Amino acid sequence: MTLRVAIVGSGPAGIYTADALTKQAGQEVEVDVLERLPTPYGLVRYGVAPDHTSIKSIARYLRAVLERPSVRFLGGVELGSDVSAAELRERYDAVVYCTGAMVDRHLGIPGEDLPGSVAATDFVNWYCAHPDMPADAFTLDAEEVAVIGVGNVAVDVVRILSKTADELRPFDVPEEVIERLAASRVRAIHMIGRRGPEHAKFTLKELRELGELDNVDVLTHQGEVKVDDVASLSRGARGNVDVLQAWASRVPEGRPRRLELRFWLRPVEILGTSRVEGVRFERTRLVDGRVVGTGEFETIPATLVLRSVGYQSVPLPGVPFDTATMTVPNQAGRIIADDAQAGTDDRLADQYVAGWLKRGPTGVVGTNKSDAAETVRTLLTDLQGRETGGRPPLDDLLAERGVKPITYDEWLAIDAAEAALADSLGRGERVKLVGREAMLAACGRMPR
Ligand code: NAP
Repeated sequence: MTLRVAIVGSGPAGIYTADALTKQAGQEVEVDVLERLPTPYGLVRYGVAPDHTSIKSIARYLRAVLERPSVRFLGGVELGSDVSAAELRERYDAVVYCTGAMVDRHLGIPGEDLPGSVAATDFVNWYCAHPDMPADAFTLDAEEVAVIGVGNVAVDVVRILSKTADELRPFDVPEEVIERLAASRVRAIHMIGRRGPEHAKFTLKELRELGELDNVDVLTHQGEVKVDDVASLSRGARGNVDVLQAWASRVPEGRPRRLELRFWLRPVEILGTSRVEGVRFERTRLVDGRVVGTGEFETIPATLVLRSVGYQSVPLPGVPFDTATMTVPNQAGRIIADDAQAGTDDRLADQYVAGWLKRGPTGVVGTNKSDAAETVRTLLTDLQGRETGGRPPLDDLLAERGVKPITYDEWLAIDAAEAALADSLGRGERVKLVGREAMLAACGRMPR
């Protein structure tokens, strides 16, 4: 009998899971990919920076998977409110959760919640036109911006803040966002790491791109980018250090914007009364591999703070969650009990996890392919020889509840509307529609 699998989440992890399931021989499989948003591709659509078109082109591969006859896309269906984990278990032979890491990590310092202190993920969602983020969420009236963290997300937000609106017009950034970027008053951007340049998480290619921006003077501080034992560094870290050291001797050329990459500074307080007025940092050093403060402080007078210190997953209703690792506890993708559910393992049978929800928010998009393949191997081994199929369809339950999933063809209508919008504006291949209403209108529906 055909094995029927539900995948929750249509980002790279979810679609690579569908890919691995439908590519294997020896077992007929039907896959339903459930997605709370009207659109597929998750972080490829709403996380990868608009000007990183080569990474975005992964969507072409993901699209080919969604178009396989044994795969069905069900957009606008939310776990919890539209269907429960228990109801999915009743209706599918196996369920694979692939919901990624949707929220930001916290700094845990005073002032973090002041207006003007924002998660970098919100800023990313804004310029990527995530339907949960209104187009007027950001007004770039700050002249100085502090970006806390030195990972690739920090590099993305710094690059988008640095580029001119005209440089971003060929990409899929919504018109409303382009207008706000054009009105940006940002003059100085500080990107700050709590450890040294050799510990930065960004990758060399991404770092180098910052040095190629026409509109920006990029600088580092000689004393902060000095590294004693360069020979012991990995190739990537050495490459980063070389670039950062070369920038220390650059002389500012009076370009419209200035970008300073700072190191050995940990944020201790976001300053301000009714909104952010600056960030207080303590200089740091490493003692036995641990970051410790030196008692020396510095204030950066930024009025917009973007906290870019990593993503984290959120617990899903009815699915175990480990709050220490902020992932779903699993063995090679098979979900196992957390403390709260210890002793009720049987209720977890045939439930799986892949992607960031399984291993935490690390790696590049492609990392999810091997990760999903591991989960699928576990799933197929577990279900081998098992009687499958013959369960009630999900469609009846959704229809009873008045939930009408966005079909793949409807997504193609949204896709076409975005291409047509780009065409009408004389802007590249796609301009994103903003908000659910515009998307539903594009597929001929009124919002429910
Ligand atoms: P990340 O790579 O984990 O970087 C997080 C940064 O935040 C690190 O510099 C970290 O410093 C710092 N940090 C954490 N806690 C902090 C604290 N309390 N105070 C100050 N700094 C703190 O996370 P990410 O940038 O969000 O990226 C997530 C994943 O997506 C990564 O795998 C990344 O490579 C990937 N990504 C890739 C691309 C691309 O390929 N172009 C683009 C975007 C994202 P420590 O090292 O000291 O902890």
